[in-house]
Amino acid sequence: MIVTGEAQRQAWRTRQFPPVEQVAAGLWSVPVTIPDSPLRYTLAYVIESGRHVTAVDPGWDSDTGWQDLLRGLAVAGMTADQVTGIVVTHVHPDHHGLSGRLRAASGAPIAMHAAEVATLPARIWRAGGGAAGDRDWLARCGVPGPIIGELTFRDDQDGPFWRMPDPDVLLNDGDDIGLPGRPVRVVWTPGHTPGHICLHDSGHDLLLTGDHLLPRITPNIGLAPGGQGSPLAGYLESLRRMRGYDSAEALPAHEYRFRGIADRADAIAAHHQARAEEIIGIIATSDGPTIWQIAQQLTWSRGWAQITGFMRRAALAETAAHIAFLQAGGGLTRDAGEPGGDRFRIAAPEAVSCGPAQDG
Ligand SMILES: [Zn+2]
Repeated sequence: MIVTGEAQRQAWRTRQFPPVEQVAAGLWSVPVTIPDSPLRYTLAYVIESGRHVTAVDPGWDSDTGWQDLLRGLAVAGMTADQVTGIVVTHVHPDHHGLSGRLRAASGAPIAMHAAEVATLPARIWRAGGGAAGDRDWLARCGVPGPIIGELTFRDDQDGPFWRMPDPDVLLNDGDDIGLPGRPVRVVWTPGHTPGHICLHDSGHDLLLTGDHLLPRITPNIGLAPGGQGSPLAGYLESLRRMRGYDSAEALPAHEYRFRGIADRADAIAAHHQARAEEIIGIIATSDGPTIWQIAQQLTWSRGWAQITGFMRRAALAETAAHIAFLQAGGGLTRDAGEPGGDRFRIAAPEAVSCGPAQDG
């Protein structure tokens, strides 16, 4: 992997705010503050073609972030009312948070992948049965009763996170985002969320990777309450798809720009394989552990004891995604309805594998 966003990496290392940069003709990267987050900022992108201007992932909804976005547009010689399109790679609040404010200021429609609509927090919450469904999911994960209350939300919650807007335009794989004279196409990369997309600017061979591919960290691949299927299987498939874009420069939504897309995708796939093997090892040496028990035994970069409050939800969802993946592959059995949560056991050791990188 070769870092191309040197100023961005320098800013990351020295904990400065990176500059607004023109990456190519008519394309700028614009850092937008995420308050109180170790990620610190989202890299929004502004793409121009003639009188058309698309903002990609406007960022977290805060007054500081809004000023960051306006300053980025100003560096590009624009004002918010000149924006003609808004595209989000996915609906997490550090990407989609400011979409509503930008739409109000510009009248530009908001576009996202058709499969992403159901990922909007308020919709996920309702689909999962609200607070009751959430508590039930946590209990099935094996979370002890007294801790469940610390990890769940209430049904009467409000705030910008829950009010993020529905899209005006639905995108599908291969669609052009509609900048005249500048082909920018949707590359559907489910995994981090079901409707996550990358955007390929073929004329400049740039791939806006959102959170799908980041240079230093790996995106959380979680199975949300009420989630179906195996998001990890989808993510590994989306990583394999990156081989077709190896010539492109990666423009991620966090950290810094880089080249070497296929290598980075392979490294992240290997990380998930190692994670799956670690989980198999834990299950093989335990007596039918729950997801909660497995999560506690896994290696976390900051240590389980430091994962507190709602971070534990993400850790649980990530563990659940790996379990669902292994279960779909036939390697695990699930005993549902046992007291204290669903329990997992090794089904067939030879069926336990994680992706094509594994030998034998
Ligand atoms: Zn993000």
